[in-house]
Amino acid sequence: MSTITARNWSNWSGFVRAEPKLVAAPTDAGELADLVRTAPGPLRVAGAGHSFTPLVASQGSIVSLEKIEGLVSHDVQSHRARVRAGTRLGPLMHILQGLGQGLPNMGDIDRQAIGGALGTATHGSGLTLGAYHTRLETVQIVDGRGELREFDRTRDQDMIHAMGVALGAFGILTEVTLNNIATYRLRRRKWVLPIADMLRDFEMMMAAHRSAEFYYIPFSGYAQFIASDLSDANPTTRPTDDDEAGLATLRKLSRGLRRLPWLRRSLIRGAVKKVPAEDYVQDWLNVYASDRQTKFNEMEYHLPFEEGPKVITQIIELTEKHFPEVYFPMEVRSVAPDMFWLSPFYKRLTCSIAIHHDAANDPEPFMRAAEPIFRRHGGRPHWGKMHSLKAADFKKLYPRWDDAMAVRRDIDPENRFVSPYMAGLFGIGR
Ligand SMILES: Cc1cc2nc3c(=O)[nH]c(=O)nc-3n(C[C@H](O)[C@H](O)[C@H](O)COP(=O)(O)OP(=O)(O)OC[C@H]3O[C@@H](n4cnc5c(N)ncnc54)[C@H](O)[C@@H]3O)c2cc1C
Repeated sequence: MSTITARNWSNWSGFVRAEPKLVAAPTDAGELADLVRTAPGPLRVAGAGHSFTPLVASQGSIVSLEKIEGLVSHDVQSHRARVRAGTRLGPLMHILQGLGQGLPNMGDIDRQAIGGALGTATHGSGLTLGAYHTRLETVQIVDGRGELREFDRTRDQDMIHAMGVALGAFGILTEVTLNNIATYRLRRRKWVLPIADMLRDFEMMMAAHRSAEFYYIPFSGYAQFIASDLSDANPTTRPTDDDEAGLATLRKLSRGLRRLPWLRRSLIRGAVKKVPAEDYVQDWLNVYASDRQTKFNEMEYHLPFEEGPKVITQIIELTEKHFPEVYFPMEVRSVAPDMFWLSPFYKRLTCSIAIHHDAANDPEPFMRAAEPIFRRHGGRPHWGKMHSLKAADFKKLYPRWDDAMAVRRDIDPENRFVSPYMAGLFGIGR
């Protein structure tokens, strides 16, 4: 095990910082269990630190599972794979491909640990595709007393539904079994269209593909639509990712032309209209993820699907009237309903809307102004992205909230995993 004392910890964007007494990376479940029993509390587990909320922050101990990673076992017939929870999605994709398996869907990046992705209901896009946690078959955890426990979907369905989205508060995941599918190939197409057309045909366009999503480019009036569908065709070359170059142009225009909004709009529109369409076929693992180098902070709300176009329109108006510094595209996706008690997709077909703000500047005025719009339309926040909600709000948004809290108390009766931030989320100590 490696342990470090009094090291500064920060998340990917640099917005969340902590000075824990101890940072530890155990190498197996036994070492992890010892830490849970003895390390200074509160004890928070870190995946890859890609959440924007202070879920991982602790003044006690931060435990990384980076050394508890890799494949445990797999089943050829059922396409199931049991993996250690610290495995990053990038290596996981390659392990699964080697077994003839595929993750049915993915988000925008492959840097997260599987335990971290499960912890906040990380998702991709697709009306019939659920978030990562919907593939859970078994979970093995170290609970708040330092005991190893195992739950299985067929035997312990309620426990799996309670703990599938668990924010690092329902024990520390050590191993999970994922119910994957046979490896597959996707045809991915991207093209630009006026946002008015996109919103008019929203339902039809989001439903017309296995996976569909779009980015609205602020101050342009245009969106870039991305559609992925299963394909048997031979692979073709994936075009070079030019997202970073595009962002650099948008940032330059936003800084240089803030006082000339009409010129900014006209130049952005001209540039966006020239973005070439893309059309390629690749194995699933070469399609979903992109490299994100420009640091940002993010808020994402999950809304009832039909609320999507209204909310998108209002967020665009807000951005373009009051926040000229915003240049990151707004991302719009859909997610299938599920039965997990703390899942933002609980029993609800979802339209997810994500807004971003350059990490070099204070994101809070923009996020504070946008959040009431999301909330007025029944939004549930992404657990790993900026929001200001507390236990009383969640209780209204999650029908099984009290049941989930009862399971949490059973798993962690002494609140070993409860930091001040988590206490606010769960309403502990009030
Ligand atoms: C550039 C970027 C792109 C992103 N794209 C997407 C996207 O496309 N879709 C999406 O939904 N989200 C996206 N996110 C958000 C991100 O997927 C989530 O915040 C995710 O939880 C981060 O995973 P992580 O491994 O970094 O976990 P962390 O942020 O380190 O931890 C997240 C939570 O999981 C818990 N946790 C971690 N490991 C374990 C474990 N072993 N056992 C129990 N609990 C654990 C932590 O305690 C914490 O509560 C993105 C974030 C960034 C920075």
